[in-house]
Amino acid sequence: MHPTPADLHDLPPQHVEVADSHPRGLYLLFATEMWERFSYYGMRAVLVLFLTKAMMMDKAFASKFYGGYTSLIYLTPLIGGFIADRYWGNRRSITVGGLLMAAGQFVLFFSASQYGPLATHQLSHWLLYLGLGAMIVGNGFFKPNISSMVGSLYAPGDTRKDAAYTIFYMGINLGSFLGNTITSLIGDKEGHPEAFRWAFLACGIAMTFGTVVFNWGKSKYLHTPTGEQVGETPINSGGIKGIYALLPVLLAVALGVLWLDSTQFPLIAPLLGVAVIAIAYMIFSDKSLSGADVQGIMVIFIVSFFVVFFWAAFEQAPASLTFFADEQMNRTIFGYELPASIFQNLNAIFVVAGAPLMALVWTALGKRGAEPASPVKMAMGLALLAAGYLVMCFGVKDLQPGVKVSMFFLVMLYFLHSAGELCLSPIGLSLVNKLAPAKFASLLMAVWFLANAAANYLAGYMSSLYPDPKSTKPAPVLLGFHINNLYDFFLVFVVSASVAAALLFLISGKLAKMMDARNYPAPTPSV
Ligand code: GLN
Repeated sequence: MHPTPADLHDLPPQHVEVADSHPRGLYLLFATEMWERFSYYGMRAVLVLFLTKAMMMDKAFASKFYGGYTSLIYLTPLIGGFIADRYWGNRRSITVGGLLMAAGQFVLFFSASQYGPLATHQLSHWLLYLGLGAMIVGNGFFKPNISSMVGSLYAPGDTRKDAAYTIFYMGINLGSFLGNTITSLIGDKEGHPEAFRWAFLACGIAMTFGTVVFNWGKSKYLHTPTGEQVGETPINSGGIKGIYALLPVLLAVALGVLWLDSTQFPLIAPLLGVAVIAIAYMIFSDKSLSGADVQGIMVIFIVSFFVVFFWAAFEQAPASLTFFADEQMNRTIFGYELPASIFQNLNAIFVVAGAPLMALVWTALGKRGAEPASPVKMAMGLALLAAGYLVMCFGVKDLQPGVKVSMFFLVMLYFLHSAGELCLSPIGLSLVNKLAPAKFASLLMAVWFLANAAANYLAGYMSSLYPDPKSTKPAPVLLGFHINNLYDFFLVFVVSASVAAALLFLISGKLAKMMDARNYPAPTPSV
């Protein structure tokens, strides 16, 4: 419902919105999320290079470490979302999460500042775990809350919501672009591993800035169309202080799990398995769900399973694909050698440029009644992903030792992967949003995040199989298949993504019927 003229009359002047434009609060959330994504993607862009070139870890270890870290990043929103709903509200959660992440980046700055004879010093390693632990916990509070606040600025059923999420997705990618560009330029300097610290410092400053901007504007701009403040602490919520006391425990658990998983035994994979089973049990044991509800929920679970294959291959970007750009690719353009980490930026550029185009394509097809159903679009996303790796296979086939590959192949890969992302990611969010019964809306969003967590873990594992020409170890083996060279490595993703695309395509008719049973309008893409 939009505010009536009478409502507007009663509100202070800054609350007056033009009905068709977006509330100013959206731009506040856009700016906050932009700085946060600057910090997340900016740091991630140089992380594996920092681990291998400054911390002197081998590529396989660094890959698994990256997978463990990003996996936990997607697991903690389960806890952060729960605490916000019951105790803290969105605003407090975002502020605390933002401060924790900024602190984490500054700790990484200190860790990276130990560079020199102390590069492999114990202190620098522990600071690394501490910094990443703070970011894992902070993200858990920040990410689910900022995403859900976008929708809260609108009345239920407001048709501007999809467009709002599109604008927000642009903010994500703009932040990723800025962060990636800056950290690559100031932190990823050939032959200067001590420079990584400046990347982390920049990310810490960006995150602090985002948190300050959010707090500056939150009371002024974050309200519903009728002027009620959004995201405040829930009424009657005790336990606010108790949660503050819990923070050191959460931090200790996050860094402990990361340390155990990377150095002792795989702990994150079983943790994810338990989380999926627990959530499935909580939902499917609810007797009040109708048969159609259950069908809709099953679609969410099935689709989430397939997207694991997408993100596991897609998230090679900051890991194996960056190793590739660093060692196997000619990065010189007009006489200037580009940093290896900067190529990941192409994803953000293609997404920002391609999102409006994609919206046009879907609308044009929709007008002719030919818009594909969501599962078909997602299968197309997987097929585009496979195509990206197929292009790479051509690039590295019969590669002679010492010869570097043209950057054309990696640019094409990022182009195809970004098109795939636009077919799958926003459509998936929209699908989850619309198929989930209201009482399980957050929990089912967590299932989507869990698919990301599993995929990132798998991405780290897959990247650890990257065939290192310098390594004296035997060739990595995956399910009996020997990965002797880059061609074999990229072929694995062509096969896995093609099989997943074909299966999803085959069952898409059945899934569409199950979605119809829920009797919800077909999900409209947000981009
Ligand atoms: N790029 C989007 C974001 O950062 C989606 C990432 C994902 O779901 N893996 O929010």
